[in-house]
Amino acid sequence: MHAFEGLTVVISGGASGIGAAAADAFAARGANVAVVDLNPNETHWSHRCDVSDDHQVRGAVAAAAEHFGGIDILVNNAGIGAVGTVEENSDKQWFRVLDVNLLGMVRLARACLPHLRESEHAAIVNTTSIAATAGLVGRALYSASKGAVHSLTLAMAADHVAEGIRVNAVSPGTADTPWVQRLLDQSEDPAAERARLEARQPTGRLVSAEEVAAAILYLADPANKSLTGASLAVDGGVGGLRIVR
Ligand code: NAD
Repeated sequence: MHAFEGLTVVISGGASGIGAAAADAFAARGANVAVVDLNPNETHWSHRCDVSDDHQVRGAVAAAAEHFGGIDILVNNAGIGAVGTVEENSDKQWFRVLDVNLLGMVRLARACLPHLRESEHAAIVNTTSIAATAGLVGRALYSASKGAVHSLTLAMAADHVAEGIRVNAVSPGTADTPWVQRLLDQSEDPAAERARLEARQPTGRLVSAEEVAAAILYLADPANKSLTGASLAVDGGVGGLRIVR
């Protein structure tokens, strides 16, 4: 029997990149997959939803729970980027990025919790970033949003452990997704910029979306009952290693 047979997983941002790889991997292991995304596609059962709109989030979660008869796992993965120092982003940009990256996860968790309480195998996995724990140049707003997700994960893990709901985070390094490709396309020399990003990785290559998805499944796996309040880095070693060549 597959690890996730009969379980229903809601995945935000499940139409692209890391979320799409997680959706495919959960489905391959027997899960019912419900994608909530701003731009859904037809790959899995999907509901169009902007996570910055509480009404839409509640509607999407209710639709998924009704369609599949409950919700066991939430993968809070939708996120957007931001470039700039504290002097360079407007208040409007700060509110927008925090609204999607942080409050989007709060809204989805709030809507899913009543369903998770009904599950024997409840788990939440939040996608954070190495930017939460390492100072990166020109990423003040994005890093603050992911640092908040890191802290939120710990607080939620504490709040819900007695209810049998595990809460963990996956912390990807630079992953080869449409997001990173969009950033590369904006640079003057995308091939040179890709080579620079790869050289920054101790492994010499970008993380794949499938590798991050595998970590998400590990954190959500009902077999890992003692795993809560953890942050699992999938970053090619960039967060912890100092390679002197
Ligand atoms: P992606 O752009 O390929 O996919 C993001 C998905 O989120 C898209 O399908 C998009 O439509 C959806 N989305 C965006 N805003 C939304 C909203 N308001 N409501 C609902 N859906 C929305 O990006 P990705 O690289 O797969 O990133 C996924 C997550 O991983 C993000 O939280 C990101 O911060 C995090 N992350 C990515 C990297 C990386 O290098 N790619 C590194 C660390 C962390």
